[in-house]
Amino acid sequence: MSQGPAFAGGRNRMTYRKAPLERNPRDPRSSGNPPRDFRPPGGGRPPSAPAPVPAAVAKSGVPHGATESGWLPDCVYTGEKFETGLAFFADAVGRLTRFSREPADLAAARRLEGQAVLPGLVNAHSHAFHRALRGRMEQRGAEGNAAVEQRLLARLSGEEVFDTARMAFMEMLLAGVTCVGEFHYLHHQPDGTPWPDANHLSREIIRAAHEVGVRIALLKVAYARGDFRGEAVAVPARFRMAGAEVFVRETEALRVQVEKEFPADEAWLGIAPYSVATVPIEPFKAIALYARTQRLRLHTHVSTTAAENAACVAEYGRTPIALLAEHGLVDKRFTAIDAIHLADEEVRLLGTARASVCTCPITEHNRGLGGAPVEKLLAAGAGIALGTDTHVQIDLLKAARLLEYRLRHARQQHPAIAADAATALLHAATVTGARCLGATSGALEVGRPADFFTVNLFDPSIAGAEPEVLLNHIVFALERRAIRDVWVGARQRIANGRHALHGPIVGRFVEAQKRIWG
Ligand SMILES: [Zn+2]
Repeated sequence: MSQGPAFAGGRNRMTYRKAPLERNPRDPRSSGNPPRDFRPPGGGRPPSAPAPVPAAVAKSGVPHGATESGWLPDCVYTGEKFETGLAFFADAVGRLTRFSREPADLAAARRLEGQAVLPGLVNAHSHAFHRALRGRMEQRGAEGNAAVEQRLLARLSGEEVFDTARMAFMEMLLAGVTCVGEFHYLHHQPDGTPWPDANHLSREIIRAAHEVGVRIALLKVAYARGDFRGEAVAVPARFRMAGAEVFVRETEALRVQVEKEFPADEAWLGIAPYSVATVPIEPFKAIALYARTQRLRLHTHVSTTAAENAACVAEYGRTPIALLAEHGLVDKRFTAIDAIHLADEEVRLLGTARASVCTCPITEHNRGLGGAPVEKLLAAGAGIALGTDTHVQIDLLKAARLLEYRLRHARQQHPAIAADAATALLHAATVTGARCLGATSGALEVGRPADFFTVNLFDPSIAGAEPEVLLNHIVFALERRAIRDVWVGARQRIANGRHALHGPIVGRFVEAQKRIWG
């Protein structure tokens, strides 16, 4: 849980101070002491200056060059409750500067009538190219699904990866997501040969996020073999890395490039061995060491099925988390994706390390996988974040709802995750997500980015909710159409439920789908 805001200043003027979220090591504004290896990104551009946006998008946002922008919704969520009569302001580079109840400030702020404001959601686990598979994996039979996947991998061009990612990222914005952790493992050309620039598709994904206007942690994935004990199952050629050393060298080149081209809090790298099954422990350690040296987040799929655990025990004599912990790889920068089949001892290891678990309830429900032991993990001290994984549906609030319902069903208890379930679920979808990605967003606090979305208080799904019960309405009943406006770094990206590039993004995606499946 985040702590409540501390107030300073006069009766009507307040500044919010809170316990800090996890810091982005590349962001000089996010800690008193910049990391030793910090170089200002953008070659002299102010480090926090948002990158240019397409004119159509910029036009719908706050005016460029304005020294301060302010908003006054009917109510704003400040970390523990909705407050009314409170305006908030951001500076020219999109950082929140102050909250105020001063009459002059209330009058100067842009009025968001009939709307409530919440912090932008953080989607901690995405495979953007899976958006192209939506609705095509619902038949029974693994063979049929494998054929569908193979067809996609054989056809999806670089351009189509970009178009598909833009589509997924726009859908995220429409769902109130302002920051994504993209677990990116599609690296090579359709025939499996590397692109002349080995990082081509990673850069295309980042370019897609930039165009759409969503912050991105590109979690670059290492993928070495098909399964435990190696050669029995071939690695899809488009995923395969040449070796840990080459992977680290290419990733470092990408890291330097991204640091030059983007503000530190708009796009940054994390590292992600796909799983213990697909990356043997020695290269896993070498890659994790690189992540640690560069202070990058480390994510991996873990214990998605019981069969995976059994195969891990057969090869290493340990289940995945126990194995990783034994090699010193589980710490506060580590996030286990899925983590469905955990022994109590593994829950304790994750909790003691203050590591995070990212659960993806819509995908888990869709695939009938079950889910992480969330209550035990929270009790042990681990963080819980949320992702949309395969993009069966992109709706992080729905994912939160499904997580809670799974727990209630299992325990025959209501509510399950915490006494105040809605607050705990929003915390997972914002604060913990940001922490496990190393993002500076995740809460509406002075000094953090002005990343937020509004909901229409008169939408039939939540109409009639007073501030005391509004969060319950939003977490448990909000229809995605009620999300009306979305700002990222004080730039408006969604206006009245629509992105400025809606037409081209949908049009290009539909054309790509026709080429792949037609
Ligand atoms: Zn995944």
